[in-house]
Amino acid sequence: MTLKRPKRIITIVIIILTITGYNFIRKDFQKAESTIYFNATIITLEDGLPTAEAMLVEKGIIKAIGTSKEILSLKNSHTKAIDLKGQTIMPGFIDSHTHVALSAFLENMVDLSGFKHKTSKEVWDYLKAQALTKKPGEWIVGKGIDPVLVEDLVSPNLVFLDSLVPNNPLVLISQSLHTYWVNSKTLKKVGIDNFTKNPSESSFYEKDSLGNLTGLIAEQKAFLPILAVLQKDVITPKSLMNATTKVLKAYAKNGNTTIVSAGITINDAKPLRLYEFLATENPKFINQLLAAVGILPKRVPYPRHFIYIRQDKDFLLPKKPIDNDFYSILGVKFWYDGSPYTGSMYLNVPYLNTDFNKNSLRIPINSRGKALIKKDDLKNLFINYTKEGWQIAVHAQGDVANQDVIDAFAEANNEVDVTKFRNRLEHCVLLPESSFDKIEALNIVPNFHVNHLYYYGKALDDKIIGTERANIILPVGEAQKRHLKYALHADQPMFESKPFRLIQTAVERLTKEGDTLGFNQRISVLEGLKAMTINAAWQIHKEDKLGTLKKGKYADFVVLDKNPLKIPTHDLENIKILKVFINGNEILN
Ligand SMILES: [Zn+2]
Repeated sequence: MTLKRPKRIITIVIIILTITGYNFIRKDFQKAESTIYFNATIITLEDGLPTAEAMLVEKGIIKAIGTSKEILSLKNSHTKAIDLKGQTIMPGFIDSHTHVALSAFLENMVDLSGFKHKTSKEVWDYLKAQALTKKPGEWIVGKGIDPVLVEDLVSPNLVFLDSLVPNNPLVLISQSLHTYWVNSKTLKKVGIDNFTKNPSESSFYEKDSLGNLTGLIAEQKAFLPILAVLQKDVITPKSLMNATTKVLKAYAKNGNTTIVSAGITINDAKPLRLYEFLATENPKFINQLLAAVGILPKRVPYPRHFIYIRQDKDFLLPKKPIDNDFYSILGVKFWYDGSPYTGSMYLNVPYLNTDFNKNSLRIPINSRGKALIKKDDLKNLFINYTKEGWQIAVHAQGDVANQDVIDAFAEANNEVDVTKFRNRLEHCVLLPESSFDKIEALNIVPNFHVNHLYYYGKALDDKIIGTERANIILPVGEAQKRHLKYALHADQPMFESKPFRLIQTAVERLTKEGDTLGFNQRISVLEGLKAMTINAAWQIHKEDKLGTLKKGKYADFVVLDKNPLKIPTHDLENIKILKVFINGNEILN
């Protein structure tokens, strides 16, 4: 008896400690209580009830929506009521094509972009000043090199970069992310010399007429050895994790309640585990344990996150698609061509033979770009992934690229039914109007990279592809006319994910210099709002749960300082996102 008792007490104490510890670790962020938002202008984007004044939100779901009087009558002692004093509410934006991993990767780099600097002198002076703040030997990594937005910027060569940054390994990344520059210190450190083999014809270490490296590296494959060293020395897993939470918060602050990573290019599943942990509704115990001891970050409300895996990383795909409303892997992403600003957009008629193309963009004379995958291989891969149940998204900018991809889908469709997947065509810069019949028949959905028009429209017109083609870029109006569920995207980090900038461009069709391109392709503001909400939800097969404000859907919404449907279109991009709610929870400021 006397021996048994203390034993029992110890057992009970252990059980109590275990339960307390378990509950402590299981503790998640505070969820919003039952709330009525009233006295608002609610743009529901539902055709049946286009506007409302109030809604009741419970456990992340819209329980009722209607007039303030109707909804306030549902109030009980547990309901909070928030008077929005006439502010505008609309569904949260869905960024249907972005790159979280890349954005996090670039987050802490020296910003040399045309959004920050106007002249090449400004760019290089800034880089030089930044280099002086570093210890000799410390890495310097710069992003945003852009000879289009910074008009007098010419591609730097090795001698120039060595003179600018003599004591540190230097890596510069272009705004389009297709071109890289390094100095001699970096070449030596990574072990690249005049005899290093080029990975392919389109991805190479550029050499001058004497066979010496110029410091320019074209396309991702040739950059991989440098990337590997960067990941060991400077862009470490810990720094990337911190950058990821920063980047996710920034998406939300810009009004995005859902984001879609269009082509993850990572080598192992660890970042996916982080994304899942930050987005999911029900975190795994092991991950909460890791967060409790500081290995994973603390959870706060973050956007929903859906993912396409880049085709050559398809070992990251689960065995089969898993349906989830907060986080899931949706399918596979292909790159069929490259960027208009590197000569890798695949065209029917060559780029213009201008000095700008030749000297600043380094596009060879008579170049038409080319496909990164054989069309036949593409078709076969489409068939395989379709059989496995995956949705497919394909990067296609040039007219030939778009046509080839659509044809490959058509050929695949002879063997397997591709139509139910809502497969996606990404960017669609020169999507030919003649291909829309096929797009419709195959239930392919275009996703337009519409900021090309605003930021680069003038350069495309004057110097890169010429007026005739610049006037038919991004046929958003044609997609609207056919009632396709097209979306708009910023392709962050190429452009910051700002929904109203995209909508304004699609509505006005104005370049930043004020010229009109493709006047007939304009859409209305309402259509623009739908493109970035309900259409984008449809593209990811979530239109029943996201994208409009309706009873039974998730309470993902934004509060705006102005009603986008009631202001002049040139003010759209100045609308302020005052508050952002995801699953009923307000994103912390
Ligand atoms: Zn992209």
